[in-house]
Amino acid sequence: MDVFRITIAAFDKSGVGRNLQPHAWMTAGNVTAVAGDFVGVNNYGFGGLDGHRGFLLSVAEWQAMNYLANMSEAASRSKSAMTSNAIEISGLRKIYRGSKGEPEKEALKGIDLNIPQGSVFGLLGPNGAGKSTLINILAGLVLKSEGKVKIWGFDQDENPRMSRASIGVMPQELNLDPFFTPRGALEVQAGLYGVAAKDRDSDGILKMIGLEDKAEAYARTLSGGMRRRLLLGKALVHHPHILVLDEPTAGVDIELRQMLWENVRKLNRQGMTIILTTHYLEEAEEMCDEIAIINHGEVVARDTTANLLGSLDAKTMVIQPSVPPETLPDAAGITVEKRAGGAIALGYNSKTTTAEQVLQAVHAAGISISDVKTEQADLEDVFLDLTRSR
Ligand code: ADP
Ligand code: MG
Repeated sequence: MDVFRITIAAFDKSGVGRNLQPHAWMTAGNVTAVAGDFVGVNNYGFGGLDGHRGFLLSVAEWQAMNYLANMSEAASRSKSAMTSNAIEISGLRKIYRGSKGEPEKEALKGIDLNIPQGSVFGLLGPNGAGKSTLINILAGLVLKSEGKVKIWGFDQDENPRMSRASIGVMPQELNLDPFFTPRGALEVQAGLYGVAAKDRDSDGILKMIGLEDKAEAYARTLSGGMRRRLLLGKALVHHPHILVLDEPTAGVDIELRQMLWENVRKLNRQGMTIILTTHYLEEAEEMCDEIAIINHGEVVARDTTANLLGSLDAKTMVIQPSVPPETLPDAAGITVEKRAGGAIALGYNSKTTTAEQVLQAVHAAGISISDVKTEQADLEDVFLDLTRSR
């Protein structure tokens, strides 16, 4: 039986969207529509409470309506099956059974993690932390051992088809069939996901990933960068709500990296939730609104990027003396280090020492300051702090 995802919106008399059901579904010739508490059934719409009119929208129309509906939804906080989380994970464990005498491996040790809708969410962690295992479970490529996973409100076990339809994954490894052309690869992928011919947009995707001229070239003649772009395109054929990128820029050149991030930002602006793993901490810092750091199969930190960066208490104040100092500052709780060009770096813990006290120590040493700046911890510091020696 074919099941199609449809979107239903109800409007009040003023034409303002009041309720939107992006995860309603239909089977051919049979529509079940839910607006608020009202259930109506017919082929082309439904009546609603208080004279609301109902419409079935195509996916494209839905995307256009999404913004309006989000606003009115937020305003009315209407009851909805959907929470504001794109992904909800609780108690997720993965134990790989050891083969050929190898011991079993607990790759995920009870992960609880919610990923908000609309975010660019970073999954960071050292090699072997369990990032790919987590992503592959989301993608339906690896079977979990225990726990619950909800994707776009759909429980993975109760509604595998819908949860899978909500997410698109760009894998790290290049797994393209060398005999498909880019257009062919996109069409086959769309077929796998049951995307009807009229809902396919291979041309649009080829354009977006910059492979229009290569649409009919064999994949084996494409450069590494082109193949990677094609993988991004394949992840998008079924218009997923959530796009997952596993180390998308590992080993790619700067140009491709920029192109990828431009596309990702654009998709995010259009409302797509983005989840990515990356080894490049600078990139996570720049791209991600929120970050979870995973170590040995556990979430050791999860916060907004800004909060994570602010979470380190170690601060550094760098001063440029107006004349070379005779004595260096000397006070409890402050470390002193000479830098190139006569600058002095003063390290302190912001929990126990104030910037004022650091400045006082500088003045007490008879140093007049021509310039001063502070150095914030970067994500790498946070990362090392959290994953070191644990
Ligand atoms: P990451 O992506 O963070 O580098 P992975 O999820 O790939 O980490 O791996 C997490 C742990 O699980 C590692 O110790 C890895 O060796 C192990 N692992 C991953 N895949 C398998 C597998 N198919 N069989 C056995 N162990 C695996
Ligand atoms: Mg990995």
